[in-house]
Amino acid sequence: MKQIVVYDTTLRDGMQGTGISYTLEDKIQIARKLDDLKIDYIEGGFPLSNEKEAQFFREMQNQRLRHAKIVAFGSTRAPHGNAGNDPHINALADAGTPAVIVVGKAWTAHVKQVIKTTLEENLNMIFDSVSLLKKAGREVFFDLEHFFDGYKEDPEYALQVLKTGNEAGADTLVLCDTNGGCIPSEVERIMKRLAGEKLAPLGVHFHNDTGCAVASTLTGIENGAVHIQGTINGWGERCGNANLCVLIPNICLKLGYKATCCEQVKRLTPLSRFLAEKANIIPDRRQPYVGEAAFSHKAGQHADVISKAAYLMEHIDSALVGNTRHIILSELAGKSTIVSKLSKYGKFDKASAEVNELIQKLKLLEQEGFEYEAAEASFDLIIRKTLGRYTPLLDLHNYHLESYKSGDAPSKTVGRIFLKVKGKEVMGAAVRVGPVETLDAALRDALLPIFPFINKIKLTDYKVRVLNPEKASAAKVRVFITSSDSDHDWDTVGVSENIVEASWQALIDSFEYYYNNFELKKKVK
Ligand SMILES: [Zn+2]
Repeated sequence: MKQIVVYDTTLRDGMQGTGISYTLEDKIQIARKLDDLKIDYIEGGFPLSNEKEAQFFREMQNQRLRHAKIVAFGSTRAPHGNAGNDPHINALADAGTPAVIVVGKAWTAHVKQVIKTTLEENLNMIFDSVSLLKKAGREVFFDLEHFFDGYKEDPEYALQVLKTGNEAGADTLVLCDTNGGCIPSEVERIMKRLAGEKLAPLGVHFHNDTGCAVASTLTGIENGAVHIQGTINGWGERCGNANLCVLIPNICLKLGYKATCCEQVKRLTPLSRFLAEKANIIPDRRQPYVGEAAFSHKAGQHADVISKAAYLMEHIDSALVGNTRHIILSELAGKSTIVSKLSKYGKFDKASAEVNELIQKLKLLEQEGFEYEAAEASFDLIIRKTLGRYTPLLDLHNYHLESYKSGDAPSKTVGRIFLKVKGKEVMGAAVRVGPVETLDAALRDALLPIFPFINKIKLTDYKVRVLNPEKASAAKVRVFITSSDSDHDWDTVGVSENIVEASWQALIDSFEYYYNNFELKKKVK
């Protein structure tokens, strides 16, 4: 079976989706997770577009990836310009990535009406840009924008564009359906016509405007493509891109193609949910393979069939994609996940009393609205408490927060906190703008003299989600906090009807996680 190269554009095309934005730290964490999944190429963004993008490429030069190569995205040189001093081409070369992707026009209407140049100059722009980056030692992907529409209108010119990219030395020629309007039968018809051409390997890039992006990508593979592009969760411009969370299991588990990420398919579900938390988007429960409902069965007949033989009700074993079967009112759910999470603390199996205790705790907490897929540090503390391997950082007596506003001046919050730490009574105080920020500052004020390590912990992200909006102001909120000490990142969660209380839980979990996992260990050594 042929080898398929998997190219992820979550951090570039994926960020064109409405409501999607990631911080620089998010982007780095996402790139590392994509590398763990053994994605072959990670498109990092458009280095010329803004400083955050350029900084990502600088930061990634210090990150050692195990498998994936980072790719910088940019367009061909400007009409009648010189590729050698074109800002787009220079930005691509300066990004310092092993591979680059150059986008060029393949539809005559776009050449004439958008970049307003001649068809011949468009070919020159492509040739110069691709060949210059090849000479600079980069692996070069040539992205043929609107290839399928271009082919439908003027097949000869679209083919000329393909051949130009090929002659310029592009390593892969990527056929794009940029407006997402193609259906699989068109893809098949067009790609069959390319079969006789001697060209570099072909890739495909589909958008989902007809709901066919995954189907068209599979059609592309069946008709000669060996490189596929898509995004995690299918997020992208308008209706999104081909969804890698669906494509990868399809190519690895259904069609039996080879791809490096096939060994790591089980990482897909956690990655899908991790991205949802980072983007602050509620995960799509009905997403194939990785959605929470993909392997959920209501108690009763279906669950009964499952208990006899799972394959009678499920098209694959949920564990293959890292998902979990949920049977409502059953204690079977999630045991293997718990066993694997416990493995760092010793040998446990599904029958261990600790596993059952954790399942019960988890069920109750999930009912209250806690979610641990993107808050592993909080779950680690629950495990520690269950195993008797938890050392509390402090005892809280009380905290007080008072927000005030006078006239037109900005509002402020005054906070005081009273704690018992290592048998000593301590107090902290702070004045900041918001209540959560004030609570964090007052807590640090109290702890710092006793625990100087607190200074190393930075809160790098804070997200709030309303859980049951129908209850209006009495709704519960879930808070996620990401913390970092520059060597590690960890995530914690809190849930309450009070946003300060939810934040307190996530904050204290963050400090206690660090204390138990790093600080106490250091002292033992
Ligand atoms: Zn695209």
